[in-house]
Amino acid sequence: MIIIIKKRRKMKKLTLIIYALIFAFTGNLFAKEVNIFSARHYDSDVQLYQKFTAKTGIKVNVVSGKSGALEKRIIEEGADSQADLYITADAGRLGAFAGNLQGGLTSSAIKSAVPSNFRTSKWVGIAKRARIVYFAPERVSGAELAGLTYESLADPKWKGRLVIRASNNIYNQSLVASLIKNNGKRKIVEWSKGMVANMARAPKGNDRAQILAVAAGEADIAVANTYYLALMLSGKKGPEQQAAAKKVKPFFPNQDGRGTHMNISGAGLVKGAPNKGNAIKLVEFLLSEEAQNHIVNNTFEYPMIAGISPHPLVVNMGLDFKQDLKTKVVNYGNRQADALEVMTATGWK
Ligand code: FE
Repeated sequence: MIIIIKKRRKMKKLTLIIYALIFAFTGNLFAKEVNIFSARHYDSDVQLYQKFTAKTGIKVNVVSGKSGALEKRIIEEGADSQADLYITADAGRLGAFAGNLQGGLTSSAIKSAVPSNFRTSKWVGIAKRARIVYFAPERVSGAELAGLTYESLADPKWKGRLVIRASNNIYNQSLVASLIKNNGKRKIVEWSKGMVANMARAPKGNDRAQILAVAAGEADIAVANTYYLALMLSGKKGPEQQAAAKKVKPFFPNQDGRGTHMNISGAGLVKGAPNKGNAIKLVEFLLSEEAQNHIVNNTFEYPMIAGISPHPLVVNMGLDFKQDLKTKVVNYGNRQADALEVMTATGWK
C-alpha cells in the first residue's frame, strides 16, 4: 500500500515537471504579447500601443528608460532577456547596438514602407527628423545664409556666433559621421576646429537650449533637430519656450548639394526575442497610415511612409527642402567612433 502511494506521488511530480517543460517550450508560441524596450517616453506612444492591442489582441508590455540603461539591461540579461523590440531615436545609436539585434524586419510590408537608405539588415526607421540650423532673423541676413552648408558652419564669419550641444550627444555624432562619410576624416578634423572656434559658448544643454540661446541673443545660429522647434511652438513646453521659438527661423542646409542631414527613430528585433512574430506585426502597424498619422502629430517628426502630412507646425517650417537621401543612415553607426574622436581631439566639449 505504501509503495503504491509513493509511486503515485512520483507520477504526480513527473506529470507536473512535464507540464512545466511543455509550457516553457511552447508558452511563448501561444502568448499574445510583445515586449518593447523603448527609449521614447511619449505618452502618445502608449496610446498607439493600445490601438495595436485593440486591433490584434496582442498585449504590449513596455519597459521605458534611457537608451543606455535599456541597452545595458538587454546585454546583462542575455539569454534571459524578455525584450522583443528595441525602439530608440537615432540611427547611430541603433547602429552601435546592432550586434545585439537579430535582423528579420524584412517583410514585404516593411520593405515597401521604408526607403532602403532608412533601414539596414538589423533595424528599420519608423519616423524621420532633420538636423538643421536655426537663426535670429534680426541678426542674420538672407544673403549671409545663402548656400549655407554644414561644412560652411566652420567658416570664420560665424566666429562667436554659433551654439551647438556637446560632442557626447548622439545627434551630433551622427551628423559628424555623415560629414566624415562625405568629406573624409582629415577635412572634418579641420572643420571641427573651425566649429569650436565659432562657438559662442562651451556646449551645454539639450537641443531646445540651443534654440533658446539664439532667441535670447547669446548666439546668432544654432544646430538642433526639426521637431524641437515645433514642440516649442506648440506650447507643450510652456509659454516662455513658445515665445522664444517664435523669435527664430529654421534654415535647411546643403540645399545646393546632397541635401539636409536626415536621421530616424527606429526599431530593431532583439536577439532571442521570445515573441518575434508579434514584434514584426507591431513594426508593420507602426508603419501603417493610422500609426504614422498618430506619430507625426504627437512627436512632430516627419512620416516614414509616403502620403502622410506632418503636423501643421512642421508643415509651416517648410516641406519643399531637399533631404540627404544619398548618405545611408547606416554610416552614422559605422563612423560614430571616428566622429567622437575628431570632436574630442579638436576640443569640442
Ligand atoms: Fe530628441
